[in-house]
Amino acid sequence: MSRFLSIMVYEEILYWLRENNEEKLKELWEKADLVRRQFVGDEVYLRGLIEISNYCSKNCSYCGIRVSNKSLKRYRMSKDEIIDTALLAKELGYGTVVLQSGEDPGFLPEEIAYIIGDIKSKAGLAVTLSLGEQSRENLKLWKRAGADRYLLKFETSDERLFKKLHRGPSAKKLAGRISQILYMKELGYEVGSGIIIGLPYQTYESIAKDIVLFKEMDLDMIGIGPYVPHPLTPLGKIYSSHKESVSKSVPNTPEMTIKVVALTRLACPESNIPATTALATIGGVEARKLCLLRGANIIMPNITPLKYRVYYDIYPGKTCSIKNIQDTHEDIIQLIESIGRIPGVGRGDRVRQN
Ligand code: SAM
Ligand code: SF4
Repeated sequence: MSRFLSIMVYEEILYWLRENNEEKLKELWEKADLVRRQFVGDEVYLRGLIEISNYCSKNCSYCGIRVSNKSLKRYRMSKDEIIDTALLAKELGYGTVVLQSGEDPGFLPEEIAYIIGDIKSKAGLAVTLSLGEQSRENLKLWKRAGADRYLLKFETSDERLFKKLHRGPSAKKLAGRISQILYMKELGYEVGSGIIIGLPYQTYESIAKDIVLFKEMDLDMIGIGPYVPHPLTPLGKIYSSHKESVSKSVPNTPEMTIKVVALTRLACPESNIPATTALATIGGVEARKLCLLRGANIIMPNITPLKYRVYYDIYPGKTCSIKNIQDTHEDIIQLIESIGRIPGVGRGDRVRQN
């Protein structure tokens, strides 16, 4: 059997997810790197991530900024702080800023629209939003204000697992997230989605289905990060107290995360795929390098002002928490150049081959 059809099918993906033989896996790594070079080139595009608020009305069982975490100090950046940070991203040479937050009802939709407009007119950067589930009115308003892209992970396509992780009246809904992604495409956003790897009770079959869904949705951006347990969350407590059931799930390791990135590159050759901060948090610089060598082509340096960064506590040990923006930037440029790749210049939009 050819293990690399031009369009990867479910069975092939499952085969590779279960493969542990390093010699055999070399074939997968080489193919993913080749396809990455052919379709998205040697540039690694940098997207400056600004964590604009850690208020959230949702209660996702894995996330440290969930509404039930009452011990966390909450913050919301002012309009001027956000715009000044975007200008700093421009100075560093980035082509995109990503505005990310919890689902924060304290930010009026009109304020977000104003911020988008101001970043576009003063910095001329591509603006990506990652503000969770939103109404169609808000999505239209922000598109009209100039937003270019939107990231909304479906986290897992396994309905049963999704329901376990998202409970309560305000819970994330899988169908709601998928239909928001499809609607944003209609509005003309570049859209991104993604999953978490190594959630307790996650199966290889469900990850193979996630990758097939990435392909079916024709995503422009795909974020794949490992699950990083947070001790103050319900899932973090399950992770540390139910070792046996956790050990039967897909592992939340750098190796497994990078393998999913490689398979996703083969399934979705044109997509922009980051080597995520969550991966660097558990695997360090080496994992980030390997991820770039096995399919990834994007890095999202954290440029949130240091005084807020520690409070965007979605999981512990975020690699960027202690470093200032300039030092983080220099480390990342060095990393890219050390593997013979080129820091991308400009927006780094998805390029369609036909
Ligand atoms: N609130 C928005 C949302 O949920 O789409 C955007 C911000 S949210 C913090 C961004 C992403 O963080 C989520 O999509 C989720 O995948 C990830 N995340 C949260 N907690 C995590 C954890 N403990 N380990 C790994 N990823 C996590
Ligand atoms: Fe809120 Fe997003 Fe965290 Fe869920 S993952 S609790 S929506 S910030």
